[in-house]
Amino acid sequence: MKTFKSILDFQKEFSSEEKCREYLEAQRWNGTPACPFCGSLNVCRFSNGRIFKCREKQCRSKFSVTVGTIYENTKIPLQKWFLATYILSVHSKGISSLQLANWLGVTQKTAWHLNHRIRVMLTDNAPELLDGIVEVDETYIGGSESNKHESKRKVKGGVGNKTMVFGAVQRQGKVKTKVIPQTNIENISEAIEGFITPDSTMVSDDHHAYNKVGQKYNHKKVNHRNKEYVRKEDILVHTNTIEGYWNILKKQIDGIHHSVSPKHLQRYCNESAFRHNNRELLQDERFAAALTNCNGSLKYKELTAKI
Ligand SMILES: [Zn+2]
Repeated sequence: MKTFKSILDFQKEFSSEEKCREYLEAQRWNGTPACPFCGSLNVCRFSNGRIFKCREKQCRSKFSVTVGTIYENTKIPLQKWFLATYILSVHSKGISSLQLANWLGVTQKTAWHLNHRIRVMLTDNAPELLDGIVEVDETYIGGSESNKHESKRKVKGGVGNKTMVFGAVQRQGKVKTKVIPQTNIENISEAIEGFITPDSTMVSDDHHAYNKVGQKYNHKKVNHRNKEYVRKEDILVHTNTIEGYWNILKKQIDGIHHSVSPKHLQRYCNESAFRHNNRELLQDERFAAALTNCNGSLKYKELTAKI
């Protein structure tokens, strides 16, 4: 792994396309290139250094290190991709597509696409369940009230055009978030069971949607309706950790991106969770962690498709 402590170091380390490619090869393949089409390790490298060929009879595909990754099929040099990936994984709040466009010297549309593709890399692909004392809560995020016509503002059961996000945070541990259509027993139960081990202590507020799934856990409730915020038992019963996280997430999303459509919100949530969950890593370690997740794709067509 390369080491760097600042953006200046970073740019020195990745000062050419070759350096970027070498690093990507190391992160992705760990010294053993694999065919992205059939998975075979029986591959050879062409003398130009950039292109590989699969030796399997049925395959014979040619590929470079970016094939099958988020960086595939793009005219943007890897150096710019890397810089954007660095900023998103390291900068504490992320970056708007307008700002990124200025930094990289690309159009805002390109920067927007880049931003979203990098967010795919910031998704936790091997998630372990939360354990111990886990606080759960839900909140509304996104939307911009002032731009919406009066009739659209009043969504039944919701708050304007904002979108519901459910979250769980392990005390002194990781956070997980999920965009859900509404707070009902089914959605909440499914999210909790997908996030938390059964022998955890789950702390929630007094929302009734937590009661049913709460029977499967050691469930503690803090009674916000009675203005109770912390109660001392064998543990401190409160949801201050997840509420603190909501503040961070809202500052990042509402403060930087202003208006985020519900369709893209999960990706913004993943970006923020990645930074939070890797907060103890150094810059170079965070960047490496993002790059090991580079397999995948997100086409512009998929991004802009109406759902
Ligand atoms: Zn192959």
